[in-house]
Amino acid sequence: MSEKKTTKKKVSLTVWIFLALVLGVVAGIALQSHAEFAESYIQPFGTIFLNLIKMVVVPVVLLSIMQGIISLQDIKKVGSIGGKTICYYLLTTAFAVTLGLIFANLLQVGAGYQLATEDLVYEASEAPSFMDTLVNIFPSNAVEPLVSATMLQVIVIALLFGFGIILAGEKGETAKNVVDSFSEVSFKVMGMIIKLSPIGVFALITPVVASNGPSVLLPLLKLIVIAYVVYVVHMVLVYSSTVYGIAKMSPLKFFRGMSPAMIFAFSSASSVGALPFNLECTQKLGAKKEVASFVLPLGATINMDGTAIYQGVCAIFISQIFGIDLTIGQQITIILTAVLASIGTAGVPGSGMIMLAMVLESVGLPVEGIALVAGIDRVLDMGRTCVNITGDAACTICIDALEKKKEARKARK
Ligand code: ASP
Repeated sequence: MSEKKTTKKKVSLTVWIFLALVLGVVAGIALQSHAEFAESYIQPFGTIFLNLIKMVVVPVVLLSIMQGIISLQDIKKVGSIGGKTICYYLLTTAFAVTLGLIFANLLQVGAGYQLATEDLVYEASEAPSFMDTLVNIFPSNAVEPLVSATMLQVIVIALLFGFGIILAGEKGETAKNVVDSFSEVSFKVMGMIIKLSPIGVFALITPVVASNGPSVLLPLLKLIVIAYVVYVVHMVLVYSSTVYGIAKMSPLKFFRGMSPAMIFAFSSASSVGALPFNLECTQKLGAKKEVASFVLPLGATINMDGTAIYQGVCAIFISQIFGIDLTIGQQITIILTAVLASIGTAGVPGSGMIMLAMVLESVGLPVEGIALVAGIDRVLDMGRTCVNITGDAACTICIDALEKKKEARKARK
């Protein structure tokens, strides 16, 4: 009971966010015939909120990764955490897309549709090639990525400068203190913005419901339902079992603790935007700050299980609509490209759809098929983003537990 009292403030924010989501949906349904009103007068408040989040994300990512590295004090330790994190991320993403393919094949996601496919037009906005994606990770300028919020590059800068501070030893002490201090400041700024989230969630969800309305969703309902079933199955199967198996945490506690971040990811469709929430939720679940601040920003940038599921399900959907049979070999290609595509997907709304072009092209499926799913992308995006960030959090909880075990073992020796 007393614990309840101490966390009362946080719990009430969670409840507020949830209420805002429900109210937003209700208001959206009520405003369906006045969608323009919702877009002109309600959405701007959502935009203001997202702007504030975006504003604070670069300093938070840069400083928290640097601080995480500095506090680990040892490049080897960063390597060991980084290695485990990347393994977790890659394996779960490959599993996610495989699950998507299995469900989509078994449930015949695109069968029985008579959609006019002749006059489909989708201008594939160039999905970058794998080599381009690789080259683009490394910035040629130390400031520009911070200005344009190119997250992978920001992470590289944070890693290199974090290592630099460790290597500089005593002479790096001032830099370390500056990072510590500014990191604390940006977390406080983030905290202030998070308090506004019920307003943000309401203002973001209302116009989506008002302008899409339930009727638009009908023809593609099967695709939506199957995608969401896989989202849920993946979360329950993979995240429950890993947090329980590795960290001995009850899945219920995990999902309950994660709910504010999940609701925010759902309504904003942005992993990067949800990062501040994720940092807070995982730490409340007991993860050490130094682990969370290294594993989460990396995950928000490269780990996208939900996006991989979406890409697998959509690839099968599009192949079936166009009557193209995919061989097992082609489906394996989809798994590989979807894993790469999800790494290259930026944690912002809609970017998974752009990367879908890369997946379709890898097996010769018509990119125009994207036009079929573009209309409902937002609906699919909300769910996949929710999965994306929950995967980052599950990994954080597991890595944190492994690190704690390692420390305990060392202490015993
Ligand atoms: N919106 C997703 C995210 O931010 C990315 C995507 O479009 O799949 O995680």
